[in-house]
Amino acid sequence: MRRERSNLAVIENPAFSKKIQPEKSKRLKLLQVLQTTLALDHLLSLFSEEIQQWLPHDGFRYRNKKFSLEISGGKPSVHSCNYTLTLDDELLGELTVFRRKRFSDGELKKLENLLGNLVYPLRNALMYYQALESAYTDPLTRLYNRTALNDAFQREWKLAQRQRQPLSLLALDIDYFKKINDTYGHAAGDTALVKIADILKQTVRASDLIFRHGGEEFLVLLNNTGIEGAKLLAERIRKAIAAKDCSDIDPNLAITTSIGVASLNHPEETPEQLLKRADDALYRAKRNGRNQVMAG
Ligand code: GH3
Ligand code: MG
Ligand code: MG
Repeated sequence: MRRERSNLAVIENPAFSKKIQPEKSKRLKLLQVLQTTLALDHLLSLFSEEIQQWLPHDGFRYRNKKFSLEISGGKPSVHSCNYTLTLDDELLGELTVFRRKRFSDGELKKLENLLGNLVYPLRNALMYYQALESAYTDPLTRLYNRTALNDAFQREWKLAQRQRQPLSLLALDIDYFKKINDTYGHAAGDTALVKIADILKQTVRASDLIFRHGGEEFLVLLNNTGIEGAKLLAERIRKAIAAKDCSDIDPNLAITTSIGVASLNHPEETPEQLLKRADDALYRAKRNGRNQVMAG
């Protein structure tokens, strides 16, 4: 009862309410800003930008082990503070804030308080990320699927045009895959597909994008790579697949692939035309005897 009265007194005190109003509206604005995006990297950048007024800092790093995510902004510095973010026992990741100057106890308290505004929008952004991931991921190989291809191809193509950088595409198809299924069964065929996917993941650069395009067909989109680099990579992939140990299926089994390679050769060429040239090159590799790379 006494508490209520004293709270009322504080709110009615004009000197105090003048002080609290701007703070309240700043916090409200922070919440509103954080609710404007579901994209994780955008959300974290907004949070970092908005809290500069309370806690000046040089950079941040967000990590989420569950989703193998690391997002950074600004630059790292000598001093840092690190928080594990949770909501209702759900782990939302770790946030580290960097600064040249040491953080005071008061500032850390402030940051803890501000993080309270981040957790709900962060959980929404993570749910959105997860939904996109599963809509874009082939469940067997964990590679991107056809839906992801359409979006990514458009994006990489526009970027290549804008920055006048080369863009290459590999179209890969397993040779006589039907025979693997017919001889060893569908489950063994699935195991072979996962093996090929793993080789692709291990062989390409982190910035390259790998898609399962159809049953036993894969595409690799190589940004900032011209035809010569793409042919070299295709040959490396072809060799790695042919050399892969498949003794868990049959000691005598060797899986081979045929690969078609094409690079964007003039600015007007559309993604569809590029894909067609890579596909045509793939079928020439098939007709020419399989287990080889052809450029279109
Ligand atoms: P080619 O060298 O001309 O490419 O011959 P191929 O046998 O690989 O080509 P074909 O198109 O005749 O056969 C492709 C096979 O891939 C047929 C289909 O049953 C199999 N396949 C497609 N998707 C899957 C899958 O998810 N798992 C398994 N195990 N097999 C699949
Ligand atoms: Mg095929
Ligand atoms: Mg095939």
